[in-house]
Amino acid sequence: MSFDNLGLDARLLQAVASMGYAEPTPIQSGAIPLVLAGRDVVGCAQTGTGKTAAFVLPTLQRITARKGAITCLIVTPTRELALQIEDVAKTASRSTRHRVAAVYGGVGYEPQRRALQHGVDMLVATPGRLLDLAGSRHVDLSRVEVLVLDEADRMLDQGFWPDVKRILALLPPIRQTLLFSATMTPEVLRIVGDTLDNPARIDVAPPSTPIEAIQQRIFPVSGTQKSDLLIHMIEEHRLDRVLVFTRTKHRADRVAHSLERAGVRSAAIHGNRSQSQRVRALSDFKRGACRVLVATDIVARGIDVDGITHVINYDLPNVPEDYVHRIGRTARAGKSGSAYTLLAPEEHDNLRDIEKMIGSVITAGEDAVGFRYDESRVVPDPERNPNAPKHQPAPAGKRRVGRTGGQGRASGSGRASGSGGGYQGKRS
Ligand code: AMP
Repeated sequence: MSFDNLGLDARLLQAVASMGYAEPTPIQSGAIPLVLAGRDVVGCAQTGTGKTAAFVLPTLQRITARKGAITCLIVTPTRELALQIEDVAKTASRSTRHRVAAVYGGVGYEPQRRALQHGVDMLVATPGRLLDLAGSRHVDLSRVEVLVLDEADRMLDQGFWPDVKRILALLPPIRQTLLFSATMTPEVLRIVGDTLDNPARIDVAPPSTPIEAIQQRIFPVSGTQKSDLLIHMIEEHRLDRVLVFTRTKHRADRVAHSLERAGVRSAAIHGNRSQSQRVRALSDFKRGACRVLVATDIVARGIDVDGITHVINYDLPNVPEDYVHRIGRTARAGKSGSAYTLLAPEEHDNLRDIEKMIGSVITAGEDAVGFRYDESRVVPDPERNPNAPKHQPAPAGKRRVGRTGGQGRASGSGRASGSGGGYQGKRS
């Protein structure tokens, strides 16, 4: 499959080339022809599948540049996602000359008002700030031709739906609507029924199996020694682009502080941090000014940073799918990466759920060589490997259980052809 036969014109093909994409992902090859044909589309796809370009590229082709009004509106639940979509849209619009802007909460109004006054063709927005700006007449949505609702399930979860409904009331009733959601809950389907017109549906299964390029390891340790072990790993192996996950915001702050105290430049990113703090933490991490970013799941979903060599689960997530999301932040763009889990005795059940989902047993790692364990506090999991020496790799021979890679499917009309699971492809 190539981008050449999806119906994109020369300007957009040039944009694709400048973004370094060699071939379309399943959600892109499914959605792009449908969007270009003017269909309403429901895409069941999560972050990591290439969904942003799947709606940005064809939409830029559908809307005329510099018409003097906002003709495409993209509504997304978080500032981070808004910034990422803006980034993709700005890159793509260099060859189409569309004007792109993003508005989101947590920062001052004035720069956003000024951007709007300069004229915007494609506006990326979080719901609350968009309503504020519409209320003060800085945004006119009466000429929107294409509406994109991104991460609809999350907007519902986070209680944004009343705001989205108010936004819908400001839009022309005749328009093209695209809706993307990682899950298709009955609530999402009800919204699809109420808001979209005879939509085509494309499903891309989430990556239930982490890609082979990620080396996964567990390190049994007591809860009280996690911090020391983390510092040991980072210092001993000179890791310098590490994403650490904790279960709570409070723990994220604590871990970042103890790393800083040990002389490891780090930053925490979570829901309690202000927008400017988050932006600064991300940009410090991206340019290498800090070696470790400590994050919670909610905020990390959607963070797109290249070159993360290690993901370390300081705590395991309660939801097994989050484990796959987390570790998928490494081994991107054809590189390899490592995913380490610091496993406290009380997390053994979570680990078993994860192993069941990914269909393999995660072996114990060796990277903690030289770390002085407090043996009295490490409790081996008797069900796992009663005879194995602690902190040594478990015997080879992985047992495979449960399902393996997901399969996509496409329905609706047109040339929809969703296939394959989540995208983990290479950039050329
Ligand atoms: P998204 O699901 O839109 O957040 O995209 C996830 C990641 O995939 C981003 O880093 C994109 O730059 C990358 N990506 C999207 N489409 C392609 C493609 N066709 N080829 C290679 N990488 C892509």
